[in-house]
This record gives sequence, C-alpha cells and structure tokens, in this order.
Amino acid sequence: MSNYVFSPTPPVTLPIEGSDALFPVRRVYCIGRNYAAHAIEMGHDPNREPPFFFQKNPNNLTTGDSFPYPDQTKDVHHEIEMIVALKSGGKSIPLDQALDHVFGYGVGLDMTRRDLQGVAKEMGRPWEIGKAFEDSAPVSALRTASDVGHPDAGLVQLKVNGAAKQTGDLNQMIWKVPEMISYLSDFFELAAGDVIMTGTPSGVGPVVRGDVMECHVAGVGDLKVTVV
Ligand code: MN
Repeated sequence: MSNYVFSPTPPVTLPIEGSDALFPVRRVYCIGRNYAAHAIEMGHDPNREPPFFFQKNPNNLTTGDSFPYPDQTKDVHHEIEMIVALKSGGKSIPLDQALDHVFGYGVGLDMTRRDLQGVAKEMGRPWEIGKAFEDSAPVSALRTASDVGHPDAGLVQLKVNGAAKQTGDLNQMIWKVPEMISYLSDFFELAAGDVIMTGTPSGVGPVVRGDVMECHVAGVGDLKVTVV
C-alpha cells in the first residue's frame, strides 16, 4: 500500500462497445480549425498552415447523457468531433505507421465557453478557460479499429432538438488522422491512453439548458447529450 497523503483520483476510463474492458485515458489533445468551413466561420484563413493543438484534461471527459451548463459563461457552443484513442505511442511516429497506434474511435463534443475563449484569443492568452472546464468533453463509448476500421469519410452531424446544426464529412478534415498523430509525436511523446479530438465541421453555435444534442459520426457511432 503506497503512502499517499490522500487517495489518488481514480483513472478516467472510457467504455468500449461490445466489451467489459475499459480504456484508461492519459492525455487529451484537441486540434483547432481542422475543417475549412469552420475555420472560415471563425474568421480564419483555411489554407493549410501547420496544425495547432490545445489540451483538455482527461477528467473533463464524461460518458453520461447530460452536460451541466457551466459557470462563468453566457455562450456555450457545441463542437461535434470524431475522437481517436491510442493504444500505443512514441516520438516522431512516421506517417505510414501512425494508424498502427490507434485503438479505436468515438464520437465526442468539444464543448466551448465561446465568450471566454474569445477574450483569451483577443488577449493572446491560453484557451483552457474556454475549453478545459468540468464536463467539457462528453464522449461516446469507443469502437475498436478492428471493429470499424479507420474511418476517413462519412457524415459528421450534430442536431440540436432535432434540427441539423453541424453537417460535414470526415473527408473534409484538413489534417487527417495519421497526420495529426505523426505531427503531435514530433512535439510530445504519445502513449497508450492518449485521446485526440479531431476538430469540428462548420455550424458551431450556442446551446441552452434543456437542449438535446444528437451527434452522429458515420461508421463510428452516436452520442446524445442533454444540456442540464
Ligand atoms: Mn474543437
């Protein structure tokens, strides 16, 4: 028995479709502006400049069916994203070996306090206050790559109260999954348990308490979350 001064927080885990085993989360990397139409709606040039990433905290991930409206904001936005879960990692992973490290895929929401993110952008400050808050990343159970392959095309859609708000296709990603893994591994040592949120199509917008967000990523799954 280790001599901790208090009990360590248990690891964050994600369920796996069709299995009793759990996926223990290590880190959460999120790419910004990875769909051209979303880059444009946020006021940026969608040309293929180098990708950039921010992080959420592993314990920002939730697998319940509700999203508590967060404090200190009046403008919380939905961002539907496919998530990638790694079973291994390393440094400087070659592009052609990147997918070998993928355990599986899921559907996630990069919930964003857009007003706070906007202030941070304006002042050249980090984005955590807008992105890495409690319960900010509702995610589905994972589907294994052995089950679904490596989806790189297909519908990505989010509906709010039944009305389509975000509609895109995985094939519209500026930086593809193997590129994201390879690029990240040049800057960070990736490892089993790392999760990558792969960016959101255009159509992001606010939600209010009572809204029901229905997320679908073709070939990966669905996620239904109510704002409470
Ligand atoms: Mn995002």
